[in-house]
Amino acid sequence: MPFAMLMDTAIDYPEIREQVTRLCAGFPGSYWRDLEARSAYPEAFVKALTESGYLAALIPEAFGGAGLPLRAAAVILETIHARGCSAAACHAQMYTMGTLLRHGSPSQKKRYLPAIAEGELRLQAFGVTEPDSGSDTLSLRTRAVRDGDHFVVTGQKIWTSRARYSDLLLLLVRTTPLEDCKKRSDGLTVLLVDLREAEGQGLEIRPIETMINHQTTELFIDGLKVPAENVIGEVGRGFRYILDGMNAERILLAGEALGDGRYFIERAVDYAKERKVFGRPIGQNQGIQFPLARARVHLDAADLVARQAAASFDAGEPCGPAANSAKLLTSEAAWAAAEACFQTFGGFAFAKDYDIERKWRECRLFQTAPVSTNMVLAYIAQTVLGLPRAY
Ligand SMILES: Cc1cc2nc3c(=O)[nH]c(=O)nc-3n(C[C@H](O)[C@H](O)[C@H](O)COP(=O)(O)OP(=O)(O)OC[C@H]3O[C@@H](n4cnc5c(N)ncnc54)[C@H](O)[C@@H]3O)c2cc1C
Repeated sequence: MPFAMLMDTAIDYPEIREQVTRLCAGFPGSYWRDLEARSAYPEAFVKALTESGYLAALIPEAFGGAGLPLRAAAVILETIHARGCSAAACHAQMYTMGTLLRHGSPSQKKRYLPAIAEGELRLQAFGVTEPDSGSDTLSLRTRAVRDGDHFVVTGQKIWTSRARYSDLLLLLVRTTPLEDCKKRSDGLTVLLVDLREAEGQGLEIRPIETMINHQTTELFIDGLKVPAENVIGEVGRGFRYILDGMNAERILLAGEALGDGRYFIERAVDYAKERKVFGRPIGQNQGIQFPLARARVHLDAADLVARQAAASFDAGEPCGPAANSAKLLTSEAAWAAAEACFQTFGGFAFAKDYDIERKWRECRLFQTAPVSTNMVLAYIAQTVLGLPRAY
């Protein structure tokens, strides 16, 4: 295949790209700047995405969704980010819904999925991370004890994003104490918590101020009662269900990182052609050109790996190494593009009206969440290279 064709990475799902681009045109930089100044949630943007059906892209048609492959969902998120918008306020609905879809009971699916597809219910929050366990998920200490037809939950979560704007929360809890489990991954259970009933009844949600407008929170849980019928799948097998969703999450967020990278390159190239200093466009200087050209090459290469990961996922093949590689490569390529763009804009990169500093701050997150670069490297070292576990 000629090199040009191999590198022609922007051609699949052209209708989706075009329609999402049109939708995003209604949400310019001024919309996002205003939200951030007020630490506000992008209600209008999420409503538009929901009404257009994009947030239900992965919900099967039988439950009212579009039943599209994961690759199509990644293209939706990539386009949103490439157009200067952010899907962070609602992207989790795409992959948390997968846990319910794959492991929920028929009655749970019937009750929740059509309502999520319709936009009547939001499932945008998932609580896994805890203050003391961090990346070591299996050490989590939030405990759920069965009491008749309920579980009673006590513990704490951190970085539970969107909890104040979601109706439902997927909560990973320990139902069997670690010392009674054969394996550390046993004894964890996924509960579907109805936040509308839970808040004030054993659940307190406190926002965390961050360097980006992300609506992330801490959850303080003390005696929260969750009906036993809200267990997803089997009690004690929750970690496997969460793991199942992680590859999808990594591939989808790789799409967002790619979109950010494409945004930075497009903005920087336009600016480098227009901005004249010393009597010529700054883009004529190789000091400006080369970082942008290098970032573009790295983005295209990362894009190919992300497509490979999505293709494996959609074919039902094992895709852990590809999904993790895609996440690592896209987050680093996007960050290189962010840096090159920031430098291209000179002092104007710092001016809020240009949106570069906002996107630059937002883009940094991909190297930390949903999984940090070190943890991806540890995974590749162990599973691909067969090196001994580092922890
Ligand atoms: C804005 C934001 C939103 C988030 N949203 C959610 C959410 O909705 N739901 C949720 O459950 N979580 C969420 N998270 C949590 C996120 O997934 C974690 O921050 C992330 O997994 C890392 O955990 P930690 O911050 O405790 O870092 P730590 O685990 O304390 O790690 C700190 C550093 O040490 C490194 N490190 C740790 N152990 C090792 C090792 N063995 N080898 C090499 N390096 C190591 C890590 O890679 C990292 O760089 C969010 C985080 C942020 C910042």
